[in-house]
Amino acid sequence: IPGQKVVLITGCSSGIGLRMAVMLAKDEQKRYHVIATMRDLKRKDKLVEAAGDTYGKTLSLAVLDVCSDESVKQCINGIKDLNNAGIGLVGPVESIPIEEMKKVFETNVFGVIRMIKEVMPDMKKRKGGHIIVVSSVMGLQGVVFNDVYAASKFAMEGFCESLAVQLLKFNVILSLIEPGPVHTEFEAKMIQEVKQRECPGADPDTVNYFKNVYLPSSIDIFEVLGQTPDDIAKVMIEASRPRFRNLTNPMYTPIVALKYADETGGLSVHAFYHMLFNLGPLMHVSMTAMKYLTYNTASLVRLSAYYEKHKTNIVVSIYLFCYN
Ligand code: NAD
Repeated sequence: IPGQKVVLITGCSSGIGLRMAVMLAKDEQKRYHVIATMRDLKRKDKLVEAAGDTYGKTLSLAVLDVCSDESVKQCINGIKDLNNAGIGLVGPVESIPIEEMKKVFETNVFGVIRMIKEVMPDMKKRKGGHIIVVSSVMGLQGVVFNDVYAASKFAMEGFCESLAVQLLKFNVILSLIEPGPVHTEFEAKMIQEVKQRECPGADPDTVNYFKNVYLPSSIDIFEVLGQTPDDIAKVMIEASRPRFRNLTNPMYTPIVALKYADETGGLSVHAFYHMLFNLGPLMHVSMTAMKYLTYNTASLVRLSAYYEKHKTNIVVSIYLFCYN
């Protein structure tokens, strides 16, 4: 259909990618044709079911593994490119083999770069196109025990920040989406797996901090602040009126502000230290209070507006609190 945008999305067998594909395919004005890709078409059933009668019309399927040159080359031909495929990794660094860390970089960093390398020349030639990369809040702020995952997302942020300037000269837009916690299969699997994990190579104190301090607070945070894949998909659709950075969760704006408010980095490091090690039980209480508030959308909107307005004051209060 003339004027219809072709959107290729990686990692569509589950989670954010799946919902994103369905939401774009079901667009009432039929503005998009979605090429939903996954490594293995045997895992297509959930997507096909959710796509309903858009399957075969505004949504088609293709095989794509972001870790394979050949697979990427075969799939690409002058399209809008949405890089969603990614893998997570949590745990004490001492207990994670380097090979496993490399896999995270292979997918989250080189997978995205491979895709961009492939679509970019044609977009430059056409003087148009939009590349969207799903990063994370952890691409802007490191989080304890997510060291390698955060490093991979930071790497992407640096890559995109550099490339966006050159691409602008060719009228090609590059956008990052930075979700906070999102309820997908990944989260449940991670919690289950961490509970059972042995963590060889890490000392007992570290394992204790990981399992009995980090994990409960991470579960709390997911429960209270977690968004749905549909929430993220909506932000991505809005990114067609593109901004470079797109934080999907307004609750994280102060955390990012905190980081940029203090160029020594001490503010962020100390704030996170206090939150995790000194305020554990208090955090649980305040999370419960926040949960109560978030059930009421109007309060949530008020709360985020308050954050926006008083960002500086909040940052200064946290600063004073952390250094006292
Ligand atoms: P998910 O595990 O449901 O989805 C990731 C998808 O990527 C899966 O379908 C998986 O099969 C696919 N994938 C993995 N390796 C691939 C490869 N080599 N080639 C092609 N596809 C591959 O998890 P999700 O939460 O939907 O994750 C989507 C993106 O969102 C990731 O980039 C993730 O880092 C990011 N993200 C997730 C959260 C969260 O809390 N869930 C938060 C911030 C950012």
